[in-house]
Amino acid sequence: SLVVTGATGQLGRHVVSSLLDRGVAAGKIVAVGRDEERLADLAGLGVQTRSADYNDPASVATALEGAERVLLISGSEVGQRLPQHQAVIDAAKAAGVQLLAYTSIANADTSGLTLAGEHLATEQAIIASGLAHTFLRNSWYLDLYLDQVPTYVEHGTVLGAAGDGRVSAAVRTDFAEAAAAALLLDAPQEVYELGGQGFTLSELAAAVTEATGTTVGYTDVPAEQLTTVLAGAGVPEQFAAILADADLGLGRGDLEVAPDDLATLLGRPATSLADALRSTV
Ligand code: NDP
Repeated sequence: SLVVTGATGQLGRHVVSSLLDRGVAAGKIVAVGRDEERLADLAGLGVQTRSADYNDPASVATALEGAERVLLISGSEVGQRLPQHQAVIDAAKAAGVQLLAYTSIANADTSGLTLAGEHLATEQAIIASGLAHTFLRNSWYLDLYLDQVPTYVEHGTVLGAAGDGRVSAAVRTDFAEAAAAALLLDAPQEVYELGGQGFTLSELAAAVTEATGTTVGYTDVPAEQLTTVLAGAGVPEQFAAILADADLGLGRGDLEVAPDDLATLLGRPATSLADALRSTV
């Protein structure tokens, strides 16, 4: 079977749909989440569903029984992820899987992003397990910017701390399709650096202007100020700091990758910024 963890999440759901679209028999797919009830719609399609919490290794081991290939979708509890991911790696090893795929971060081995630490440590744990693996090193979700379009328009500005750095953002659904494609390859690469055509935040502002008809500029501020503004706007403090830290990384090019790997897995170029904005607005 093909096991997808984090299947209750936004990326995981799209991966399961994409596997079905690619002709994988529903009964061959195992969708894993903490709350199995939230997978009922997939169960209705014939997909096997199992519940597991990364904090409960026994539940993970049960969920991975009989697995041939596993996609470990990185967890969302920043700071706790290494032991959580280790539980999945151990279970995959015990199940004797043929391939362990992992959603990592762009340039995991050189990135200075705070977020990259757990990803690199997870990659190293997977290598140490000796399992055949593929690292899907995703750049930033374009959706994170698309969700902000009303705010950009309201304030007439994109606020950031990225300077002229480029981000190879791509829509979550493209990352999901790429993950499904990699999972089905006979011999996927050990590392894919995944992202779309890169853009600066000034170019993002110009594209928002074009798509909405409202003039939106880019305002670059120090990272501390960005954290304060985001927190003041209701973003949880830890997440505000993570976003500002990511902008600094963007300024260094940490989230910039060539578009080739994603296009190759998709069999087409990734959805462009302009097209994604057009479908959002
Ligand atoms: P979501 O938050 O929608 O999904 C996260 C998934 O991980 C959910 O299914 C969640 O389960 C599951 N999960 C979290 N903690 C546990 C746990 N302890 N045990 C079992 N499952 C757990 O995120 P997305 O789908 O949008 O993104 C997937 C991952 O990508 C994120 O978790 C994060 O690591 C990373 N990410 C990357 C970004 C980028 O720009 N590249 C941006 C944001 C996230 P439950 O539904 O029960 O909470």
